[in-house]
Amino acid sequence: MTRELFKWLREGVASVAEADIKSPENEIEEGDVVIGEVTDLELRKFHVFRGRFLKESRQKLAEDCEQLIEQVMRLDLSKHDGDNCPHCRAMVGLELEGEIGKVVDDLFWAAIKSSLSEDGLFKLSKGGGIGLYKDWKIAVTPRAHPRVIVRAMGIPASLFEILGGLRG
Ligand SMILES: [Zn+2]
Repeated sequence: MTRELFKWLREGVASVAEADIKSPENEIEEGDVVIGEVTDLELRKFHVFRGRFLKESRQKLAEDCEQLIEQVMRLDLSKHDGDNCPHCRAMVGLELEGEIGKVVDDLFWAAIKSSLSEDGLFKLSKGGGIGLYKDWKIAVTPRAHPRVIVRAMGIPASLFEILGGLRG
């Protein structure tokens, strides 16, 4: 179950086949300002890897969370033994999974921002959300996308951040 995170990420990105690399399909809309373009092959691969991983991870987390909540609901909490509770154990794993998803997403956007020119980066600081568009254009849009974070009692917010993150 242990995972060598750097190795996993490096090899995951490298393993994306060039044939699977497709530019995002979103069209740039009026008011959006193009601030750069993703030209680096590795960054394009990272985009594909991130998309696949987040999709799988969100699905898995949603299923596992649902299961876990169901199990916890049936517990007799007066007899809860925190040191030997399989649900508390499972929660730790889920929390890490959510954290890794967030790190992958944050790292991707940090890599995109790092690829921008000084001018592009400055324009980004003036606008709303950053996004990737058709033909690998990087644009800043004045309308910030709403970011929905659902919170539930006893469930770590980091999980829901990754489940509910709406960044494209
Ligand atoms: Zn427990």
